[in-house]
Amino acid sequence: MPERREPTSLQRYREKWTWDEVYWGSHCVDCYPGSCPYRVFVKGGRVVYEEAAGTVATLVEGVPDRNPMGCQKGAAWKETLYGRERVLFPLRRKGERGSGEWERISWDEALTEIADALLDAIQEAGPETIVHEMTPAEGGFMAIWPVRRLLCDLLGGVSTDVNAVINDFQPGHYITWGKFNPVNTPESRWQTELRLIWHSNPAYTQIPNYHLGPESRYQGAEVIHFAPDASPSHIHADYFFPVRPGTDAALALAMCKVIVDEGIYNRTFVQRQTDLPLLVRLDTRRFLRGHDLEEGGRDDQFYWLDATTGRVVPAPRTTLDPGEVDPALEGSCDVTLRDGSRVRVTPVFELLKKRLEAYTPEAASKITDVNPEVIRMVARKVATKRTAIGMGMNLCKYYHGDLVQRSMLLLLALTGNWGRHGSGIGSWSPGNFEGPGIFAMKTKPGPEETRRVLAQREAAVPLIRAMNPEGTDEINAIEGIVRATRMGLSNYVPPAWMWYFHSGFNERWRVRDWNDPSMKRPFEEYVREALEKGWWEGVVSPPPDKPPRVLFEVGGNMLRRQRGGRTHALKHLWPKLKLIVSVDWRMSTTGMYSDIVLPAAQHYEKPNFHLASPTLLQLTFSDTAVPPAGESKSEWEIFKLLAEKVEERAKARGFLQYTDASGRERSLENLGYRYSLGLETVDEVIEEWMRDTALAGNVPKTESLKTMKKRGYAMFTNIGQSVFMLNQAADIEPGKPFTSLTWHTEKLIPYPTLTRRAQFYVDHDWFLEAGEELPVHKENPPMGGDYPFVLTSGHNRWSIHSMNITNRLLLQTHRGQPHMVMNTGDALRLGIEDGEEVRVYNDCGSFLVPVKLSGSVRPGQVIVYNGWDPYQFRGWTGPMDVEPGMVKWLHFAGGYGHLRYWPIQWQPVQVDRAVRVNVEKVRGEAMGQAKEGERVRSAPKRSQPPPPKSGPQEYVLGPFGGLMTREEFEAWQAQQQKQASS
Ligand code: SF4
Repeated sequence: MPERREPTSLQRYREKWTWDEVYWGSHCVDCYPGSCPYRVFVKGGRVVYEEAAGTVATLVEGVPDRNPMGCQKGAAWKETLYGRERVLFPLRRKGERGSGEWERISWDEALTEIADALLDAIQEAGPETIVHEMTPAEGGFMAIWPVRRLLCDLLGGVSTDVNAVINDFQPGHYITWGKFNPVNTPESRWQTELRLIWHSNPAYTQIPNYHLGPESRYQGAEVIHFAPDASPSHIHADYFFPVRPGTDAALALAMCKVIVDEGIYNRTFVQRQTDLPLLVRLDTRRFLRGHDLEEGGRDDQFYWLDATTGRVVPAPRTTLDPGEVDPALEGSCDVTLRDGSRVRVTPVFELLKKRLEAYTPEAASKITDVNPEVIRMVARKVATKRTAIGMGMNLCKYYHGDLVQRSMLLLLALTGNWGRHGSGIGSWSPGNFEGPGIFAMKTKPGPEETRRVLAQREAAVPLIRAMNPEGTDEINAIEGIVRATRMGLSNYVPPAWMWYFHSGFNERWRVRDWNDPSMKRPFEEYVREALEKGWWEGVVSPPPDKPPRVLFEVGGNMLRRQRGGRTHALKHLWPKLKLIVSVDWRMSTTGMYSDIVLPAAQHYEKPNFHLASPTLLQLTFSDTAVPPAGESKSEWEIFKLLAEKVEERAKARGFLQYTDASGRERSLENLGYRYSLGLETVDEVIEEWMRDTALAGNVPKTESLKTMKKRGYAMFTNIGQSVFMLNQAADIEPGKPFTSLTWHTEKLIPYPTLTRRAQFYVDHDWFLEAGEELPVHKENPPMGGDYPFVLTSGHNRWSIHSMNITNRLLLQTHRGQPHMVMNTGDALRLGIEDGEEVRVYNDCGSFLVPVKLSGSVRPGQVIVYNGWDPYQFRGWTGPMDVEPGMVKWLHFAGGYGHLRYWPIQWQPVQVDRAVRVNVEKVRGEAMGQAKEGERVRSAPKRSQPPPPKSGPQEYVLGPFGGLMTREEFEAWQAQQQKQASS
């Protein structure tokens, strides 16, 4: 008998890397732009590993492609797929909310209970009390689309606007451009000569594309990094300049001053693209408008001064081309108003020069801690080089982030740095995948119906143009969506109103000391005025007298994400909710506090597309590699079954018709069919979406579900007709990077703002009252109380969203638990050691967290990176519990040109950066010793604030590899010696 041999280690190793089948995969979460194509390897019915596919098409010859596009979260996704927090069966809570006591129930029981709660809400209070918290973490088109289709489109519930929920909205972009979302493909960076990484840490947050930035240095590009802390992104920069948190507007404005004073601004760009030549009345500080000069003149007709003739002439509304006119940037003149009186007018540029007087490099240096010569050097570089600002989603989370963004855009405008390859500023945008939108307009499946919808859409274009001949396609599309939103047709609502009326934030927002001092009146007064003037008509929903009744979380995690934290939400919102449903593949903190948890299929267990984006120009497909675990189902199937159940229960009640808040008649007849159009499987729906997208011309005619299953992606061929793509104001040109705003800069097509130019002057009453009619620097208000540390955040290396933060493999690559990064010198002064648990608190709340010491962090700053789920903190409270969740009152402004709400655009959003906190030792309790609920500290005692840093410091290498001042180092040495001798 032959001897049986054990496999050698080489054979075992080879065996490990074998598979039965391989599929296309991706991770349909919001790791913008995400959509990395992966190969998913399956053996024995389980995913055994995955790897970046390396199939991203080369967009521009000669520019490094993006392959292999991926990150460590994607490469370790199978650990998430098989994580212990997976929910495998429908669950209903048995004990109190949050008690952790659950019972397994059947799908039929779960759906019946939910359907009855939905019908109760509709019958007793109206469908607008059904709230879906929108979040990109839901996971791609096939997760977001089904829930919105049933709850909002068909039943009349509301989705809270995703951009307010996650706060990736850039209000400064919006105020300036009338849109916040123009983006470029990363290939554009290859032509960048100067890249300012500013308010961003792309080495953590842009892992798939990060390499293009440093690689552009081979082309001779320079990279400058501005940030309070030395993050990993500074390693590949040519210069790193630390900035005091939240003072970046002063820095940008000082650079603008240098550029204006030295006359090195781009006069033609300023004249054509911006409102800086438009005339302002010095008596009222308002723009000179048509109605000032003639009876019945237009309110939105603006004027400039022709430098050649000295005459005041109307600025054209349909083009940015000044024609024969040479719009003056300087000087002033008198004009006669229609009542015969004379007033003096001057271009905005003159007012800007006055404003910039406060921002000499020396003055700005005192505010920002950046050396004045550095400010001059960078300003001159920006003025002479093709410059791009690599800004992430951090700045929009600052109270005065809008002012910083407006100042940054002013810097780019003065130097002609947008709308050409290699220039611009960061943002995010959904994209041009038209299939789901077309499907929503169809009444039956099939190409004939698609052609009908497309023909109808096509026929509407000339009608819309005829209605507003002075509108551009972009302006008209925005007008259409604004109207539809006001009529309640989009069912998107800015959640600020729900937060104010139903979630207890009225109490927080009215705290005067936590707001900017230029908020002169009580917060409530601004809110009242905004409502009385109808600025938010049609979107204050659920209305004040109707609290939300049913909350749907589909992949979202409100108790982690909502500023104010779990404690605040449980106190104010939760008691009002009759039913909370979480549809998720895992048990999150919000799931823990839900009434019913429905198990969703995970990535790799259902066909899906990540949200397409003009940043990528590619539609990436993720296939079903393995069947859904346990009894989990795709979101498409879950909401299809729910639609059928609602129809069934409604028939049993004899309740089939109702009127929603906007006056629309709604029917529950055939709800199941109207949801699915009779399609049974997700594959059938995707087949439909692909064919419809091809018929609309967004992808080549040959693309289909079959080609997606074969190749894994399709390239977009045109921008389509969605308003978010029209906001890009650029065409897709084969072989070139996609660079937004070129319609404005090259074709001289107007912007969708009140003045139809990039608008830096806002003569809205509230902006004038706040002194923010032009960009200005303002200090962060002491949100949370007057405490010595500022708490900042950002994404950590291991997680873009909390779903990855529990990945066991990734947890093993770092300390594996939430931690707060703190300056070594500060810790030393407070007697805090590396790894020691501390209490962080302010007037809103507190949390316990171990400290990681680092010389990279600025004195006075503490950082807790985003993504930890509350249940990972002891006591289940984290940084969100000390965030008051403030909004800037000015963002309730409306009734002024482009300052009006439409989905994912202008609205108040909560901020969370630079919250004030104190840090104290948890006396006598080392990490892990105290038990939940145990008293862990004696009476609060204010820590000593870190001493102010002024004048030049001598730095030395301190413990833990960080920099310390010599003074701090000597104090540390003394402490060590004292400890050693005792
Ligand atoms: Fe790409 Fe996001 Fe997947 Fe990472 S998690 S590989 S960034 S899709």
